[in-house]
Amino acid sequence: MHPSTRIQSIVDGADDGWGVFYRAREMKAAGQPVIMLSIGDHDIKTDVVILDAMKAAMDAGNLGYAAVEGSAGLREAIAQRIKSTRARGATANQIAVTPGGQSALYSAMVACLDPGESCVVLDPFYATYSQTVRAASARAIHVPCRAEDGFQPDPAAIEAALAPDTKAILINTPNNPSGAVYTRARMEGLAELCLRRGLWLISDEVYDTQVWDGPFISAWDLQEIAEQCLLVGSMSKSHGMTGSRIGWVAAPGPVQARISDLLIATNYGIPGFIQDGAEFALRHGAAAEAGIVARYRDRRAAGLEALGNGPGFRVVPPQGGMYLMLDIRETGLSGEDFAN
Ligand code: PMP
Repeated sequence: MHPSTRIQSIVDGADDGWGVFYRAREMKAAGQPVIMLSIGDHDIKTDVVILDAMKAAMDAGNLGYAAVEGSAGLREAIAQRIKSTRARGATANQIAVTPGGQSALYSAMVACLDPGESCVVLDPFYATYSQTVRAASARAIHVPCRAEDGFQPDPAAIEAALAPDTKAILINTPNNPSGAVYTRARMEGLAELCLRRGLWLISDEVYDTQVWDGPFISAWDLQEIAEQCLLVGSMSKSHGMTGSRIGWVAAPGPVQARISDLLIATNYGIPGFIQDGAEFALRHGAAAEAGIVARYRDRRAAGLEALGNGPGFRVVPPQGGMYLMLDIRETGLSGEDFAN
């Protein structure tokens, strides 16, 4: 007996860059003084006011099955958040709550792509993207974003790379790992391309609160792409809630309804008390959120100062997000060898 080809191909021989992370984790567990730089977790813990709201919800008995697509209150709070931060509004029935932005990404892939179809993924990209595309039985077409172009997406290069079966473009702004915040011109170019070629635009914007050098332009700002845009959001980074697994996908209503079908078949909702804590955080957690942003702004400055003149590498100053990408070409090493 063998597991399905599909599940065996989620990790496709290589480790998709996770090897150094697993190795560092083992070294740390063995007591070696390793500082983990490979994963975007917080040392800043979820604020006590948010934890108190979660505990109150547990004490009140919100411990049963919760609304699979998210509670009405949380979906409304997410819609409000989108409305207050994006040019275009959102309604609660466009929101599906997922266990983290990661599940939102997978849901968006399954919603947009049939098995065997392809999705443009801009390189460099966040480490789970490859597995996410494969888990949806789809294929990634990698299109590079170039250093000399500030790691901005290039609509002409993307168009040249499209295959007849390409159905979606996955973008990420602010970008992990490059730190690029996509300009209005590039976002409008992507929207124009998606409209003209009939493509979904899946926009991962989980770092939207960490913009150091804006303006930040969301795919959800662009009215013209409204019917074919899926927005991925999360509270992991904005509210220090990585372990709570709270994310969402915002999508045109009919797409949202199909994603809810998928959530029935996969996660069957996330715990109600966590949803209540998340709703509280969105409605009343502004101070906690602002505190996280301020600390990452300071850390960005400290990181640039500390690493700016390192031997053999150059820091790419991030316009957004919680990472510093290094240009290591001078070392002559591959990225993986350098990380190891
Ligand atoms: N997208 C990007 C670009 C990320 O960096 C991450 C987490 N590192 C995620 C999505 C998913 O985060 P989560 O599932 O915790 O919301």
